[in-house]
Amino acid sequence: MDPAQPSPPPPFDGPDTLGLGAEEMRRLGYWVVDTVVEHFEGARDAPAIQTGTPQALMAVLGGPVPEDPGDPIEAMNQLVDTALAHMQHGDHPRFFARVPGPSSYAGVLGDWLGTGFNALVASWPGGSGPATVELVVLEWLRELLGLPAGSEGVLVSGGSLASLTGLAAARHLHGAGVAYLSDQTHASIARGLAHLGFGPDEVRVLPSDASFRLDPASVAEAVSRDRAAGRQPGFVVATAGTTNTGVVDPLGALGDLCAAEGLWLHVDGAYGAPAALCPAGARALAGLDRADSLVLDPHKWLFAPYDIGCLFLRRPGALAEAFAMLPEYLVDTDGRPGEVDFRDRTLELSRRARALKLWLAFRVYGAARMRAGIARGIELAEFAEQIVRDDERWELVTPAQLGILTFAATGAQADAHARRSAALAQDGYAAVTSTTLRGRSVLRLCTINPRSTEAEIRETLERLAAPG
Ligand SMILES: *Cc1c(COP(=O)(O)O)cnc(C)c1O
Repeated sequence: MDPAQPSPPPPFDGPDTLGLGAEEMRRLGYWVVDTVVEHFEGARDAPAIQTGTPQALMAVLGGPVPEDPGDPIEAMNQLVDTALAHMQHGDHPRFFARVPGPSSYAGVLGDWLGTGFNALVASWPGGSGPATVELVVLEWLRELLGLPAGSEGVLVSGGSLASLTGLAAARHLHGAGVAYLSDQTHASIARGLAHLGFGPDEVRVLPSDASFRLDPASVAEAVSRDRAAGRQPGFVVATAGTTNTGVVDPLGALGDLCAAEGLWLHVDGAYGAPAALCPAGARALAGLDRADSLVLDPHKWLFAPYDIGCLFLRRPGALAEAFAMLPEYLVDTDGRPGEVDFRDRTLELSRRARALKLWLAFRVYGAARMRAGIARGIELAEFAEQIVRDDERWELVTPAQLGILTFAATGAQADAHARRSAALAQDGYAAVTSTTLRGRSVLRLCTINPRSTEAEIRETLERLAAPG
């Protein structure tokens, strides 16, 4: 055979759609498993966050369309060493920035299985097994969060899309009306409302109170002002764990107000709601069951890898009322009573089986382990609060609330916080972000990773207090 002649491509009838052999598939798969386990084992020794320049990343990952087959291990090494190295490692024990993503290995395995089988959860006949897993997970979550029996849910990509979906359903079911938010409401909500067609005079952003909560009295006042002006009040958006300070809006009082005024209560518990699994969190989240729609992000505080967000609607059948569709080409796939077509609960049709990772994590670890992991995150923020209180270089700004505290360097310049957190990230030791509360720059720790140690929190605060 002429060595210059390329060998003919493999036929298409092998085990892999595009031609890898079974032995090769195994070899590459084992490589991936080993690499991921090494990632978990070595997390502590790697930087918490690393950001590349477009030029440096492109130089390795870019180039012309690869027309010919290449070495899989070499390509995967480029993904691991370059692509996956340059990101925020939300699962790193010293990642305290924004909201961490402390993913668990059983969750990873569930995601791999779903991807490996290319699972689809759109119609009942097309995915009755994965759909059952989703129904089971939703029911477990409903019970763990203490939501009323009959509440129905759906899994989407994250908190932003869950709120967008919930508010789209709310508007469909409840009619047009003004939405009331606070200045601490997550930015994705106002963006979502605008894209759902809420005009500027249908979105009221109310100033939060001294503890950064949405004040029911100020909502009541805005509602009566709107009624007097001939406008129709419609929706209150409460936050169960704000991204800035972790505070929970007064859900019970807001629930009472919504009941009295005929308003829809949407609760954004994207990061905070899972805290309801442990006693301290459940106390802070009293009134969560008042929500007409509720959002949580298992990819934040339920230890699931990205992406998985969850939406619950209190009224049975409400999601399908808002989103059901049955075009002629899907008639054959329509489920019978008791068989849920998840395409009817959201705006997605083709959907990955996001429930598998959570189902497997609950089965492998048990809810008790998750409760303990969440409780640990709450305690770690309280531990950090004590250090801040005892150290005159710091001033506590908001106390530990659902795993978040904010603080300021005593007498520091306006840009000092951003500079110190940037230096810490540069050094790789830890990731911490600053934020702004009523115009004041503060540093913020979000300690929801139970792998973080007290020593690491102490050292992070020390490095922030005495920058290099
Ligand atoms: C993280 C967060 C969101 C956005 O969720 P994504 O999953 O990033 O889309 C919304 N609201 C709150 C309170 C959050 O913490």
